[in-house]
Amino acid sequence: MKRMLSKILATEVASELQHEVALRKRLEHALRESQAVHTSLVESLPLNVFRKDLAGKFVFANQRCCDTLGISLSEIVGKTDFDIFPAELAQKFKEDDLRVIRDGTTVEKEEEVRQADGSTIWVQTLKAPVRDARGAIVGVQGMFWDISARMHAEEARRVSDAKFRQLVDSNLIGVMVANLDGRVLEANDTFLKIVDYTRDALSSGELRWDNITPAEYHAADQHAVKRLLEVGSCEPWEKEYLRRDGSRVDVLVGVTMLAGSTTECVCFVLDISEHKKHETALKQAKEAADAASHAKSLFMANMSHEIRTPMNAILGLTEFVLGTPLTAEQSENLKLVLESGESLLAIINDVLDFSKVEAGKMALDIGPFALRECLGDTLKSLAGKAHCKNLELACHVEPAVPEFVVGDPGRLRQIVVNLVGNAIKFTEQGEVVLDVREASRADDGLELHLVVADTGIGIPPDKQSQIFAPFEQADNSPTRNFGGTGLGLTIASRLVELMGGRIWIESEVGRGSRFHFTARFALPDNGDVTATADPATTLHGTKVLVVDDNATCREITDEMLRHWGLVPTLAGDATDALTAMQLASATGEPFQLLLIDSGLPVVDGFHLVQRLQCGDVPVPPFIMMLSSSESRRDIARCEKLGVTSYLLKPVKQSELFNAIALVLGLDSPEDASSPAAPLLAAAVSLRILLVEDSLVNQKLAVGVLSKQGHRVTAANHGREALALLDTQAFDVILMDVQMPEMDGLEATRLIRARELQTGRHSPIIAMTAHAMKGDRERCLAAGMDEYISKPIRAQGLCETIARVMQAAGLIGTGQEGEPAMSDLVDWAVALDSVGGDADLLREVVDAFLAEAPRQLLAAENAIRDGDHVTLRRAAHTLKGNARYFGAQEVFDLASELEGLAEKQQLAGAQEIRAKLVEGMARLTPILLDYMNRK
Ligand code: ADP
Repeated sequence: MKRMLSKILATEVASELQHEVALRKRLEHALRESQAVHTSLVESLPLNVFRKDLAGKFVFANQRCCDTLGISLSEIVGKTDFDIFPAELAQKFKEDDLRVIRDGTTVEKEEEVRQADGSTIWVQTLKAPVRDARGAIVGVQGMFWDISARMHAEEARRVSDAKFRQLVDSNLIGVMVANLDGRVLEANDTFLKIVDYTRDALSSGELRWDNITPAEYHAADQHAVKRLLEVGSCEPWEKEYLRRDGSRVDVLVGVTMLAGSTTECVCFVLDISEHKKHETALKQAKEAADAASHAKSLFMANMSHEIRTPMNAILGLTEFVLGTPLTAEQSENLKLVLESGESLLAIINDVLDFSKVEAGKMALDIGPFALRECLGDTLKSLAGKAHCKNLELACHVEPAVPEFVVGDPGRLRQIVVNLVGNAIKFTEQGEVVLDVREASRADDGLELHLVVADTGIGIPPDKQSQIFAPFEQADNSPTRNFGGTGLGLTIASRLVELMGGRIWIESEVGRGSRFHFTARFALPDNGDVTATADPATTLHGTKVLVVDDNATCREITDEMLRHWGLVPTLAGDATDALTAMQLASATGEPFQLLLIDSGLPVVDGFHLVQRLQCGDVPVPPFIMMLSSSESRRDIARCEKLGVTSYLLKPVKQSELFNAIALVLGLDSPEDASSPAAPLLAAAVSLRILLVEDSLVNQKLAVGVLSKQGHRVTAANHGREALALLDTQAFDVILMDVQMPEMDGLEATRLIRARELQTGRHSPIIAMTAHAMKGDRERCLAAGMDEYISKPIRAQGLCETIARVMQAAGLIGTGQEGEPAMSDLVDWAVALDSVGGDADLLREVVDAFLAEAPRQLLAAENAIRDGDHVTLRRAAHTLKGNARYFGAQEVFDLASELEGLAEKQQLAGAQEIRAKLVEGMARLTPILLDYMNRK
């Protein structure tokens, strides 16, 4: 039993043993398995795992940990932190380890660790004790993982939060956070200050969005909330906040939803009340300035009117009295009055222009105009001044420059008058030349380059830029030699700017100045009509001798003549001229035309012609005298010498062309504005209704007009005029604009309304002291036909009347009307035409008495032969001569004859010639009587 037992026992033990071995094996296997799982788990996690013994030596580190620290496992085992990390860090690790060992607790930390390559990373570390089977602490195990990304994100958020905080705390701008239902949750001091609430109002819930918003802004706020919910933010908008004390403050508000919230938003609020105040002040200031500027231009208009009205009387009456018989002294003094009045008017115009420029009111009056005519006329108006100082005045326009351009001729004229006027003023000897060429051309127009060159005193370099500034003069000393306002160049430079150009100067003291300016012009729609584009072919090849001592003039004439196909030869004095003519006749090709400057040195033009007539060289058939003087004596001398035409310098291109065409037997081109027009009006006696409230002006206009042979009836205002028109017929009405009772505009409207029944149209000419832009348009809109601004001058008035009458078809040939003067001779006119020189007048009368029968005979022969060219010339000469004496009847008949010859209709010419002979027969005894008077 015992054996059995022991056997059983032995068997049991054995099986137990067996079992135990198997179990152990299974356990070992499981352990191995579990270790492998553990290891693979440890290796698979993004964790760095290590273990240290109590002495701080590493006993284990997983692969990731080795990689992170950059050391292999074999290197790491047995090392301490001091072998791997900087001492400071190692010391910290050691302290953590000691805590774990001492307290048996877990230590968790976030640390920055330097890696092997020197870079640092943020790690989170977890350390815990390692215990043996009995629970005793035998070491430290730990793990750490990289939290750099999180740390960096946190850092970034911290920085941005700090910035936001700074913005909020800086109080540069009001910031508040509010619930969409209206409660303000947070606000910075600035916001509280804007709305005048204390911080308590935040916590008490008293500060609500809708409390601080005036009712009229609620709708806009609702709209903003809607936008906020839709797109998360809305455009900043201006509104007002209601402060606690009930006052209002202007603010600019921008709102955006708070990040991550669906119920809260952040508002940024800027106090713009100061800005608003400025804006309002600025607006008011602008309105005030506009009103002031309006008042200023109104003042200018009134002042212009007020000044021009008396100037009108002064200048007009002076001119009128000058035309009546006066003693030499009276006439001399009155001329001074006239001159001073004219310069006063020029100064007034300058000042008015300057204020217009300053007020930005200067505008251009754009239209097509004939450039050469405009410049030519402008220079002619300055010729007197130049010739008084013996200066040569010339104008050169390059042939390529078009004849018609679109721009403001009045303002161009003003610039040129200014520059040429200055040039004449500051030049003692030599010449003043205007040169015009094309600077550039584009599709829509062209730029002209104009130069006014003089040989005067020049301008020192340091003054050259100043003179364009207002009131600046090169010589500002009180003893300066030259008058002037110093405004001319300022106005000119502003006008040049308005014309899209610039102005500049080249000058040398003692040698002269060259004022340059450019200006832009458009071209007329009907294309580019170039000057005298079609020179008559019959002029081609005509040999011309030009005798002029001034080289510039010679060259200009030479260029023009060549352009027309003539063949000019140039001579600088009488001797050269005689030589050239001898040479030409020797070669059998004598000159057909002689163009002589009357003012040649040594032997002047007149003496040259005299010498020619006495000499043995054949005299060219046509001689033209170009003279600087308008003196009747010179004209009479020319006529005596048989000079074909007499032209006043500077000669306009059209004048020279027409004169040459006329003497060489061509018909001159049709020209509506030919100087014959005013004469025509003068030759017809018109019934004129003058509507004018000022007695002085009435007297003046009646004087001027009746001197022209017109019959004038005066009315004091519009109502009187209408009453007169009920009972009488008039050919033309001159209408002042500003009058008591009924002004000119209204009177015109009423006259036009009445005419609707009769179908008539009486020409009405506005005469006004208004010279502002728009006046003309107002007058024309009221139904007037023409407009002339005061001061009214005899010539301008006559020209305007003639123009209106021609346009209305009321005069044309000078046949209508009655002889204007019952007296056959107007001795006042006659004396005036010879500059008051009675002796000279006797000479001229003598010449006329000798000449007239010859011309009448020539006319008779011409009519018989059908030679209209000769007839025209004879009638023209008779007409011109008759004008000297105011011999209206002879003048009328001669111009009628001339008209027929012009039209080449010689039927009826014989009758008129017969009447002319009768007229001469009546005139002759009167002229003879004058001759015989002592
Ligand atoms: P003012 O009415 O005084 O002539 P401007 O503005 O026309 O005024 O001219 C200003 C100044 O420029 C003149 O006073 C003169 O000193 C100088 N100046 C202008 N043109 C000339 C010139 N052609 N030659 C010399 N000096 C000139």
